[in-house]
Amino acid sequence: MENKLQALKSMLHEINDLRAAANVIYWDQTTYMPPGGGAAHGRQLATLARITQEKLREPKLRELLAELEAYGQSMPYESNEASLIRVAWRDHEKARRVPPDFQAKVKAHQSESYQVWANARPENDFAAVQPYLEKTLDLSLQYAEYFPDSAHVADPLIERADYGLTVDILRELFSKLRDQLVPLVQKISAKQAMDNSSLFQFFPEQEQLNFGRKVIEQYGYDFNRGRQDKTLHPYMIRFSGNDVRITTRVDENRFDDALFGTLHEAGHALYELGINPSLAGTLLAKGTSSGVHESQSRLWENQVGRSRPFWTYFYPQLQKTFPEQLGKTTEDEFYGALNKVTPSLIRVDADEVTYNLHVMIRFDLELDLLEGKLAVKDVPEAWHARYETDLGLRAIDDRDGVMQDVHWYDGYIGGAFQGYTLGNIMSALFFEQALKAHPEIPTEIAQGRFTTLRGWLEQHIYRHGRKFTAEELVQRVTGSPLMIDPYIRYLQKKYGELYDL
Ligand code: ZN
Repeated sequence: MENKLQALKSMLHEINDLRAAANVIYWDQTTYMPPGGGAAHGRQLATLARITQEKLREPKLRELLAELEAYGQSMPYESNEASLIRVAWRDHEKARRVPPDFQAKVKAHQSESYQVWANARPENDFAAVQPYLEKTLDLSLQYAEYFPDSAHVADPLIERADYGLTVDILRELFSKLRDQLVPLVQKISAKQAMDNSSLFQFFPEQEQLNFGRKVIEQYGYDFNRGRQDKTLHPYMIRFSGNDVRITTRVDENRFDDALFGTLHEAGHALYELGINPSLAGTLLAKGTSSGVHESQSRLWENQVGRSRPFWTYFYPQLQKTFPEQLGKTTEDEFYGALNKVTPSLIRVDADEVTYNLHVMIRFDLELDLLEGKLAVKDVPEAWHARYETDLGLRAIDDRDGVMQDVHWYDGYIGGAFQGYTLGNIMSALFFEQALKAHPEIPTEIAQGRFTTLRGWLEQHIYRHGRKFTAEELVQRVTGSPLMIDPYIRYLQKKYGELYDL
Protein backbone atom coordinates (compact mmCIF):
# COMPACT_ATOMS: atom_id res chain seq x y z
CA MET A 1 0.00 0.00 0.00
CA GLU A 2 2.88 2.33 0.79
CA ASN A 3 4.17 1.96 -2.77
CA LYS A 4 0.75 2.59 -4.24
CA LEU A 5 0.31 5.68 -2.09
CA GLN A 6 3.69 6.88 -3.25
CA ALA A 7 2.69 6.30 -6.88
CA LEU A 8 -0.54 8.23 -6.31
CA LYS A 9 1.39 11.09 -4.74
CA SER A 10 3.79 11.33 -7.68
CA MET A 11 0.90 11.50 -10.13
CA LEU A 12 -0.74 14.23 -8.05
CA HIS A 13 2.55 16.10 -7.76
CA GLU A 14 2.69 16.40 -11.53
CA ILE A 15 -0.82 17.79 -11.63
CA ASN A 16 0.12 20.22 -8.91
CA ASP A 17 3.22 21.34 -10.81
CA LEU A 18 1.25 21.91 -14.01
CA ARG A 19 -1.22 24.06 -12.10
CA ALA A 20 1.58 26.03 -10.50
CA ALA A 21 3.12 26.63 -13.93
CA ALA A 22 -0.24 27.88 -15.21
CA ASN A 23 -0.44 30.19 -12.19
CA VAL A 24 2.95 31.69 -13.02
CA ILE A 25 1.75 32.43 -16.55
CA TYR A 26 -1.50 33.94 -15.29
CA TRP A 27 0.38 36.06 -12.76
CA ASP A 28 2.73 37.29 -15.47
CA GLN A 29 -0.17 38.08 -17.77
CA THR A 30 -1.85 40.21 -15.12
CA THR A 31 1.26 42.02 -13.88
CA TYR A 32 4.27 42.50 -16.15
CA MET A 33 3.56 40.94 -19.54
CA PRO A 34 4.10 43.26 -22.52
CA PRO A 35 0.90 43.70 -24.55
CA GLY A 36 2.27 41.53 -27.35
CA GLY A 37 2.57 38.49 -25.10
CA GLY A 38 -1.15 37.83 -24.73
CA ALA A 39 -1.73 35.36 -27.56
CA ALA A 40 1.14 33.04 -26.65
CA HIS A 41 0.23 33.17 -22.97
CA GLY A 42 -3.33 32.13 -23.83
CA ARG A 43 -2.07 29.20 -25.89
CA GLN A 44 0.30 28.10 -23.14
CA LEU A 45 -2.46 28.24 -20.54
CA ALA A 46 -4.69 26.19 -22.81
CA THR A 47 -1.98 23.56 -23.29
CA LEU A 48 -1.40 23.28 -19.57
CA ALA A 49 -5.12 23.07 -18.87
CA ARG A 50 -5.47 20.23 -21.39
CA ILE A 51 -2.57 18.20 -20.00
CA THR A 52 -3.70 18.78 -16.40
CA GLN A 53 -7.17 17.52 -17.22
CA GLU A 54 -5.77 14.50 -19.06
CA LYS A 55 -3.67 13.61 -16.05
CA LEU A 56 -6.59 13.95 -13.66
CA ARG A 57 -8.63 11.56 -15.82
CA GLU A 58 -5.94 8.94 -16.37
CA PRO A 59 -7.13 5.32 -15.96
CA LYS A 60 -3.92 4.65 -14.02
CA LEU A 61 -4.95 7.25 -11.45
CA ARG A 62 -8.38 5.65 -11.16
CA GLU A 63 -6.82 2.22 -10.71
CA LEU A 64 -4.60 3.47 -7.91
CA LEU A 65 -7.49 5.22 -6.20
CA ALA A 66 -9.60 2.09 -6.36
CA GLU A 67 -6.78 -0.02 -4.93
CA LEU A 68 -6.21 2.50 -2.16
CA GLU A 69 -9.84 3.12 -1.28
CA ALA A 70 -10.17 0.50 1.47
CA TYR A 71 -6.81 1.50 2.88
CA GLY A 72 -7.94 5.15 2.97
CA GLN A 73 -11.11 4.21 4.76
CA SER A 74 -9.16 2.25 7.36
CA MET A 75 -7.19 5.36 8.28
CA PRO A 76 -8.57 8.12 10.52
CA TYR A 77 -10.82 10.47 8.52
CA GLU A 78 -8.57 13.47 9.10
CA SER A 79 -5.28 11.69 8.39
CA ASN A 80 -3.28 12.95 5.42
CA GLU A 81 -3.70 9.58 3.69
CA ALA A 82 -7.46 9.19 4.07
CA SER A 83 -8.04 12.83 3.14
CA LEU A 84 -5.82 12.66 0.08
CA ILE A 85 -7.53 9.58 -1.29
CA ARG A 86 -11.00 10.97 -0.54
CA VAL A 87 -10.36 14.35 -2.16
CA ALA A 88 -8.47 12.88 -5.12
CA TRP A 89 -11.47 10.63 -5.85
CA ARG A 90 -13.75 13.62 -5.84
CA ASP A 91 -11.48 15.59 -8.19
CA HIS A 92 -11.01 12.63 -10.46
CA GLU A 93 -14.74 11.92 -10.74
CA LYS A 94 -15.38 15.55 -11.59
CA ALA A 95 -12.57 15.64 -14.15
CA ARG A 96 -13.97 12.53 -15.85
CA ARG A 97 -17.04 14.54 -16.83
CA VAL A 98 -15.14 17.39 -18.47
CA PRO A 99 -13.11 16.69 -21.65
CA PRO A 100 -9.53 18.02 -21.77
CA ASP A 101 -10.21 19.79 -25.07
CA PHE A 102 -13.03 21.70 -23.45
CA GLN A 103 -10.76 22.76 -20.59
CA ALA A 104 -8.20 23.96 -23.11
CA LYS A 105 -10.80 25.89 -25.09
CA VAL A 106 -12.08 27.56 -21.92
CA LYS A 107 -8.59 28.59 -20.81
CA ALA A 108 -7.68 30.03 -24.20
CA HIS A 109 -10.94 31.95 -24.25
CA GLN A 110 -10.61 33.23 -20.67
CA SER A 111 -7.11 34.46 -21.33
CA GLU A 112 -8.15 36.35 -24.45
CA SER A 113 -11.25 37.68 -22.76
CA TYR A 114 -9.17 39.04 -19.85
CA GLN A 115 -6.97 40.97 -22.28
CA VAL A 116 -9.99 42.45 -24.03
CA TRP A 117 -11.57 43.45 -20.70
CA ALA A 118 -8.30 45.01 -19.50
CA ASN A 119 -8.28 47.29 -22.55
CA ALA A 120 -12.02 47.88 -22.77
CA ARG A 121 -12.73 48.80 -19.17
CA PRO A 122 -10.77 52.07 -19.11
CA GLU A 123 -12.45 52.96 -22.42
CA ASN A 124 -15.88 52.08 -21.02
CA ASP A 125 -16.35 49.93 -24.11
CA PHE A 126 -18.89 47.23 -23.29
CA ALA A 127 -19.39 46.53 -27.00
CA ALA A 128 -15.81 45.23 -27.11
CA VAL A 129 -16.35 42.67 -24.34
CA GLN A 130 -19.90 41.68 -25.27
CA PRO A 131 -19.00 38.91 -27.78
CA TYR A 132 -16.49 37.50 -25.30
CA LEU A 133 -19.03 37.52 -22.52
CA GLU A 134 -21.50 35.78 -24.84
CA LYS A 135 -18.97 33.06 -25.48
CA THR A 136 -18.25 32.83 -21.75
CA LEU A 137 -21.94 32.28 -21.14
CA ASP A 138 -22.02 29.54 -23.82
CA LEU A 139 -19.00 27.83 -22.29
CA SER A 140 -20.49 28.11 -18.81
CA LEU A 141 -23.68 26.44 -20.02
CA GLN A 142 -21.65 23.79 -21.77
CA TYR A 143 -19.72 23.11 -18.57
CA ALA A 144 -22.99 22.71 -16.68
CA GLU A 145 -24.19 20.22 -19.29
CA TYR A 146 -21.42 17.84 -18.29
CA PHE A 147 -23.30 17.46 -15.00
CA PRO A 148 -26.81 16.65 -16.20
CA ASP A 149 -27.85 15.29 -12.81
CA SER A 150 -27.70 18.76 -11.20
CA ALA A 151 -30.91 20.32 -9.93
CA HIS A 152 -30.02 23.78 -11.29
CA VAL A 153 -27.86 24.79 -14.23
CA ALA A 154 -25.70 26.94 -11.92
CA ASP A 155 -25.07 24.17 -9.40
CA PRO A 156 -22.00 22.63 -11.11
CA LEU A 157 -20.48 26.10 -11.47
CA ILE A 158 -21.13 26.94 -7.83
CA GLU A 159 -19.74 23.59 -6.79
CA ARG A 160 -16.43 24.31 -8.57
CA ALA A 161 -15.87 27.09 -6.04
CA ASP A 162 -17.97 26.07 -3.06
CA TYR A 163 -18.32 22.32 -2.90
CA GLY A 164 -21.57 21.15 -1.35
CA LEU A 165 -23.55 24.32 -2.02
CA THR A 166 -26.40 24.74 -4.47
CA VAL A 167 -28.64 27.47 -5.80
CA ASP A 168 -31.44 26.29 -3.50
CA ILE A 169 -29.32 26.50 -0.35
CA LEU A 170 -27.81 29.84 -1.31
CA ARG A 171 -31.10 31.44 -2.27
CA GLU A 172 -32.51 30.63 1.15
CA LEU A 173 -29.38 31.78 2.96
CA PHE A 174 -29.20 35.04 1.01
CA SER A 175 -32.84 35.80 1.51
CA LYS A 176 -32.51 35.33 5.28
CA LEU A 177 -29.50 37.59 5.27
CA ARG A 178 -31.21 40.20 3.17
CA ASP A 179 -34.12 40.30 5.62
CA GLN A 180 -31.66 41.30 8.33
CA LEU A 181 -29.45 43.63 6.31
CA VAL A 182 -32.02 45.83 4.61
CA PRO A 183 -33.59 47.09 7.88
CA LEU A 184 -30.10 47.67 9.30
CA VAL A 185 -29.14 49.78 6.27
CA GLN A 186 -32.40 51.71 6.63
CA LYS A 187 -31.82 52.37 10.33
CA ILE A 188 -28.34 53.63 9.61
CA SER A 189 -29.54 55.81 6.72
CA ALA A 190 -31.91 57.56 9.10
CA LYS A 191 -28.95 58.64 11.23
CA GLN A 192 -26.59 61.45 10.46
CA ALA A 193 -24.07 60.42 7.81
CA MET A 194 -20.43 60.05 8.82
CA ASP A 195 -17.95 62.39 7.23
CA ASN A 196 -15.41 60.37 5.30
CA SER A 197 -13.84 63.21 3.33
CA SER A 198 -10.54 62.57 5.13
CA LEU A 199 -10.13 59.44 3.01
CA PHE A 200 -10.49 61.31 -0.25
CA GLN A 201 -7.34 63.37 -0.44
CA PHE A 202 -4.10 62.96 -2.32
CA PHE A 203 -2.09 60.07 -0.83
CA PRO A 204 1.08 59.36 -2.87
CA GLU A 205 1.34 55.82 -4.16
CA GLN A 206 4.66 54.83 -2.62
CA GLU A 207 3.63 55.91 0.89
CA GLN A 208 0.36 53.99 0.54
CA LEU A 209 2.21 50.86 -0.56
CA ASN A 210 4.80 51.18 2.21
CA PHE A 211 2.15 51.55 4.86
CA GLY A 212 0.17 48.52 3.64
CA ARG A 213 3.33 46.49 3.46
CA LYS A 214 4.22 47.35 7.04
CA VAL A 215 0.79 46.26 8.26
CA ILE A 216 0.78 42.91 6.48
CA GLU A 217 4.30 42.13 7.64
CA GLN A 218 2.99 42.65 11.14
CA TYR A 219 0.04 40.37 10.31
CA GLY A 220 2.67 37.74 9.56
CA TYR A 221 2.85 37.84 5.76
CA ASP A 222 6.41 36.77 5.04
CA PHE A 223 8.07 38.55 2.10
CA ASN A 224 10.61 35.74 1.93
CA ARG A 225 7.70 33.52 0.91
CA GLY A 226 5.74 36.01 -1.13
CA ARG A 227 5.74 39.36 -2.88
CA GLN A 228 3.37 42.12 -3.82
CA ASP A 229 2.89 43.53 -7.32
CA LYS A 230 0.46 45.86 -9.02
CA THR A 231 -2.44 44.71 -11.17
CA LEU A 232 -5.84 45.87 -12.45
CA HIS A 233 -7.97 43.74 -10.14
CA PRO A 234 -6.16 42.48 -7.02
CA TYR A 235 -5.90 38.78 -6.25
CA MET A 236 -3.72 36.26 -4.40
CA ILE A 237 -1.97 33.41 -6.17
CA ARG A 238 -0.06 30.36 -4.99
CA PHE A 239 2.98 28.93 -6.77
CA SER A 240 4.00 26.71 -3.85
CA GLY A 241 3.78 26.60 -0.07
CA ASN A 242 6.75 28.94 0.06
CA ASP A 243 5.72 31.33 -2.69
CA VAL A 244 2.27 32.83 -2.24
CA ARG A 245 1.95 36.22 -3.93
CA ILE A 246 -0.47 39.06 -3.67
CA THR A 247 -1.34 41.89 -6.01
CA THR A 248 -2.80 45.30 -5.40
CA ARG A 249 -3.79 48.55 -7.06
CA VAL A 250 -3.51 52.11 -5.82
CA ASP A 251 -5.80 55.08 -6.24
CA GLU A 252 -3.83 58.14 -5.12
CA ASN A 253 -7.03 60.07 -4.57
CA ARG A 254 -8.42 57.80 -1.91
CA PHE A 255 -6.80 56.07 1.02
CA ASP A 256 -8.92 52.99 1.60
CA ASP A 257 -8.78 51.14 -1.73
CA ALA A 258 -5.14 50.05 -1.69
CA LEU A 259 -4.86 49.39 2.04
CA PHE A 260 -7.97 47.27 2.44
CA GLY A 261 -7.28 45.49 -0.84
CA THR A 262 -3.83 44.67 0.50
CA LEU A 263 -5.17 43.45 3.85
CA HIS A 264 -7.75 41.36 1.98
CA GLU A 265 -5.24 39.63 -0.29
CA ALA A 266 -2.82 39.17 2.60
CA GLY A 267 -5.61 37.35 4.45
CA HIS A 268 -5.92 34.94 1.52
CA ALA A 269 -2.14 34.51 1.51
CA LEU A 270 -1.92 33.80 5.26
CA TYR A 271 -4.36 30.94 4.70
CA GLU A 272 -2.26 29.42 1.91
CA LEU A 273 1.01 29.98 3.76
CA GLY A 274 -0.43 28.32 6.86
CA ILE A 275 -1.26 25.01 5.19
CA ASN A 276 0.62 22.14 6.77
CA PRO A 277 3.84 21.57 4.76
CA SER A 278 3.19 17.81 4.95
CA LEU A 279 0.43 18.38 2.37
CA ALA A 280 2.77 20.16 -0.09
CA GLY A 281 2.48 19.09 -3.70
CA THR A 282 -0.79 17.20 -3.19
CA LEU A 283 -4.31 18.24 -4.10
CA LEU A 284 -4.84 19.08 -0.44
CA ALA A 285 -2.40 22.00 -0.39
CA LYS A 286 -4.94 24.67 -1.18
CA GLY A 287 -7.69 26.57 0.59
CA THR A 288 -10.79 24.42 0.74
CA SER A 289 -13.40 26.65 -0.88
CA SER A 290 -14.04 30.11 -2.12
CA GLY A 291 -16.23 30.83 0.92
CA VAL A 292 -13.62 29.72 3.46
CA HIS A 293 -10.96 31.62 1.54
CA GLU A 294 -13.01 34.79 1.58
CA SER A 295 -13.68 34.26 5.29
CA GLN A 296 -9.96 34.71 5.83
CA SER A 297 -9.48 37.68 3.52
CA ARG A 298 -12.54 39.41 4.92
CA LEU A 299 -11.54 38.60 8.52
CA TRP A 300 -8.12 40.27 8.17
CA GLU A 301 -9.62 43.09 6.13
CA ASN A 302 -12.64 43.84 8.30
CA GLN A 303 -12.86 42.15 11.68
CA VAL A 304 -9.23 43.14 12.20
CA GLY A 305 -8.41 45.92 9.72
CA ARG A 306 -11.53 48.00 10.19
CA SER A 307 -11.68 47.48 13.96
CA ARG A 308 -11.12 50.07 16.63
CA PRO A 309 -8.16 48.30 18.32
CA PHE A 310 -6.36 48.06 14.98
CA TRP A 311 -6.53 51.83 14.51
CA THR A 312 -5.68 52.54 18.12
CA TYR A 313 -2.35 50.99 17.23
CA PHE A 314 -1.88 52.06 13.61
CA TYR A 315 -3.50 55.49 13.42
CA PRO A 316 -0.64 57.42 15.11
CA GLN A 317 1.72 55.80 12.58
CA LEU A 318 -0.57 56.65 9.71
CA GLN A 319 -0.76 60.26 10.87
CA LYS A 320 3.03 60.39 10.88
CA THR A 321 3.06 59.02 7.34
CA PHE A 322 0.49 61.54 6.12
CA PRO A 323 0.81 64.53 8.48
CA GLU A 324 -0.62 67.06 6.05
CA GLN A 325 -3.61 64.93 5.09
CA LEU A 326 -4.51 63.48 8.49
CA GLY A 327 -2.84 65.71 11.08
CA LYS A 328 -6.11 67.35 12.02
CA THR A 329 -8.32 64.25 11.84
CA THR A 330 -8.80 62.47 15.18
CA GLU A 331 -8.68 58.69 15.58
CA ASP A 332 -12.39 58.74 16.33
CA GLU A 333 -13.18 60.62 13.15
CA PHE A 334 -10.92 58.41 11.09
CA TYR A 335 -12.43 55.21 12.48
CA GLY A 336 -15.89 56.58 11.68
CA ALA A 337 -14.81 57.54 8.16
CA LEU A 338 -13.49 54.04 7.48
CA ASN A 339 -16.75 52.49 8.62
CA LYS A 340 -19.16 54.88 7.00
CA VAL A 341 -22.19 52.94 5.80
CA THR A 342 -23.47 54.29 2.55
CA PRO A 343 -24.76 52.76 -0.66
CA SER A 344 -22.01 52.82 -3.27
CA LEU A 345 -21.25 51.58 -6.76
CA ILE A 346 -18.07 49.54 -6.32
CA ARG A 347 -18.22 46.20 -4.53
CA VAL A 348 -14.62 46.04 -3.36
CA ASP A 349 -14.87 49.48 -1.75
CA ALA A 350 -18.28 48.89 -0.16
CA ASP A 351 -18.78 49.09 3.60
CA GLU A 352 -19.42 45.89 5.52
CA VAL A 353 -23.17 46.40 5.82
CA THR A 354 -24.04 47.08 2.17
CA TYR A 355 -21.33 44.80 0.74
CA ASN A 356 -23.52 41.71 0.52
CA LEU A 357 -26.15 43.57 -1.47
CA HIS A 358 -23.52 43.96 -4.21
CA VAL A 359 -22.88 40.22 -4.12
CA MET A 360 -26.57 39.36 -4.29
CA ILE A 361 -27.01 41.51 -7.39
CA ARG A 362 -24.25 39.60 -9.17
CA PHE A 363 -25.51 36.24 -7.94
CA ASP A 364 -29.00 36.93 -9.26
CA LEU A 365 -27.72 38.24 -12.60
CA GLU A 366 -25.62 35.11 -13.03
CA LEU A 367 -28.68 32.96 -12.47
CA ASP A 368 -30.75 35.04 -14.89
CA LEU A 369 -28.07 34.70 -17.56
CA LEU A 370 -27.70 30.96 -17.07
CA GLU A 371 -31.45 30.41 -16.95
CA GLY A 372 -31.79 32.27 -20.25
CA LYS A 373 -33.91 35.02 -18.71
CA LEU A 374 -31.34 37.69 -19.52
CA ALA A 375 -29.28 38.23 -22.68
CA VAL A 376 -25.68 39.40 -22.42
CA LYS A 377 -26.44 42.52 -24.47
CA ASP A 378 -28.98 43.53 -21.80
CA VAL A 379 -26.72 42.98 -18.79
CA PRO A 380 -25.42 46.57 -18.58
CA GLU A 381 -28.94 47.91 -18.23
CA ALA A 382 -30.03 45.07 -15.92
CA TRP A 383 -27.01 45.91 -13.76
CA HIS A 384 -27.92 49.59 -13.53
CA ALA A 385 -31.57 48.76 -12.84
CA ARG A 386 -30.68 46.45 -9.94
CA TYR A 387 -28.32 49.02 -8.44
CA GLU A 388 -31.11 51.55 -8.56
CA THR A 389 -33.56 49.20 -6.88
CA ASP A 390 -31.22 47.76 -4.26
CA LEU A 391 -28.83 50.60 -3.52
CA GLY A 392 -30.55 53.64 -4.96
CA LEU A 393 -27.64 54.47 -7.23
CA ARG A 394 -26.84 54.30 -10.91
CA ALA A 395 -23.31 54.31 -12.31
CA ILE A 396 -22.70 56.84 -15.04
CA ASP A 397 -21.04 54.20 -17.20
CA ASP A 398 -20.34 50.46 -17.53
CA ARG A 399 -16.81 50.83 -16.26
CA ASP A 400 -18.25 51.17 -12.77
CA GLY A 401 -21.18 48.94 -13.72
CA VAL A 402 -20.97 45.53 -15.31
CA MET A 403 -17.27 45.89 -16.16
CA GLN A 404 -16.02 46.67 -12.65
CA ASP A 405 -15.21 43.10 -11.57
CA VAL A 406 -12.82 40.86 -13.48
CA HIS A 407 -14.61 37.59 -12.62
CA TRP A 408 -16.87 37.13 -15.65
CA TYR A 409 -14.02 38.17 -17.94
CA ASP A 410 -11.43 35.67 -16.78
CA GLY A 411 -13.66 32.91 -15.42
CA TYR A 412 -17.10 31.40 -15.81
CA ILE A 413 -20.47 33.02 -15.37
CA GLY A 414 -21.92 31.22 -12.37
CA GLY A 415 -20.31 30.54 -9.02
CA ALA A 416 -18.14 33.63 -9.19
CA PHE A 417 -19.53 35.71 -6.35
CA GLN A 418 -21.38 33.72 -3.67
CA GLY A 419 -18.04 33.00 -1.97
CA TYR A 420 -17.77 36.61 -0.81
CA THR A 421 -20.99 36.56 1.16
CA LEU A 422 -20.30 33.06 2.46
CA GLY A 423 -16.92 34.42 3.49
CA ASN A 424 -18.45 37.33 5.39
CA ILE A 425 -20.77 34.98 7.23
CA MET A 426 -17.99 32.53 8.05
CA SER A 427 -15.51 35.23 9.02
CA ALA A 428 -17.85 36.16 11.88
CA LEU A 429 -18.34 32.50 12.88
CA PHE A 430 -14.61 31.92 13.03
CA PHE A 431 -13.69 35.22 14.65
CA GLU A 432 -16.28 34.66 17.38
CA GLN A 433 -14.72 31.27 18.14
CA ALA A 434 -11.22 32.75 18.19
CA LEU A 435 -12.38 35.40 20.68
CA LYS A 436 -14.02 32.76 22.84
CA ALA A 437 -10.76 30.85 23.00
CA HIS A 438 -8.63 34.01 23.40
CA PRO A 439 -10.54 36.99 24.80
CA GLU A 440 -7.23 38.88 24.85
CA ILE A 441 -7.12 39.17 21.04
CA PRO A 442 -8.56 42.72 20.80
CA THR A 443 -6.12 43.96 23.44
CA GLU A 444 -3.27 42.40 21.50
CA ILE A 445 -4.46 43.94 18.24
CA ALA A 446 -4.40 47.34 19.97
CA GLN A 447 -0.71 46.63 20.65
CA GLY A 448 -0.03 45.59 17.05
CA ARG A 449 0.25 41.92 17.97
CA PHE A 450 -1.45 39.35 15.76
CA THR A 451 0.25 36.07 16.60
CA THR A 452 -2.44 34.69 18.90
CA LEU A 453 -5.15 35.24 16.31
CA ARG A 454 -3.04 33.96 13.43
CA GLY A 455 -1.98 30.93 15.48
CA TRP A 456 -5.59 30.09 16.29
CA LEU A 457 -6.60 30.38 12.63
CA GLU A 458 -3.65 28.30 11.56
CA GLN A 459 -4.47 25.62 14.10
CA HIS A 460 -8.18 25.41 13.32
CA ILE A 461 -8.41 26.36 9.65
CA TYR A 462 -5.23 26.97 7.67
CA ARG A 463 -3.23 23.82 8.34
CA HIS A 464 -5.99 21.53 7.07
CA GLY A 465 -5.90 22.79 3.47
CA ARG A 466 -8.59 20.86 1.59
CA LYS A 467 -8.89 18.01 4.09
CA PHE A 468 -12.31 19.15 5.18
CA THR A 469 -15.10 20.62 3.12
CA ALA A 470 -16.34 24.06 4.15
CA GLU A 471 -19.33 22.42 5.80
CA GLU A 472 -17.14 20.02 7.79
CA LEU A 473 -14.79 22.81 8.78
CA VAL A 474 -17.58 25.05 10.06
CA GLN A 475 -19.04 22.14 12.02
CA ARG A 476 -15.65 21.27 13.53
CA VAL A 477 -14.77 24.82 14.48
CA THR A 478 -18.13 26.06 15.71
CA GLY A 479 -19.97 22.86 16.63
CA SER A 480 -22.92 23.89 14.43
CA PRO A 481 -23.77 24.15 10.76
CA LEU A 482 -23.35 27.39 8.83
CA MET A 483 -25.60 30.10 10.29
CA ILE A 484 -25.89 33.83 9.86
CA ASP A 485 -26.51 34.78 13.51
CA PRO A 486 -22.92 35.53 14.57
CA TYR A 487 -22.46 37.70 11.49
CA ILE A 488 -25.62 39.66 12.17
CA ARG A 489 -24.61 39.98 15.84
CA TYR A 490 -21.22 41.32 14.76
CA LEU A 491 -22.72 43.91 12.42
CA GLN A 492 -25.39 44.98 14.90
CA LYS A 493 -22.91 45.46 17.70
CA LYS A 494 -20.29 47.30 15.67
CA TYR A 495 -22.64 49.54 13.73
CA GLY A 496 -25.02 49.91 16.66
CA GLU A 497 -22.15 51.54 18.57
CA LEU A 498 -20.94 53.57 15.63
CA TYR A 499 -24.36 54.91 14.69
CA ASP A 500 -25.93 54.91 18.12
CA LEU A 501 -28.83 52.69 16.98
ZN1 ZN B 1 -10.90 37.65 -1.93
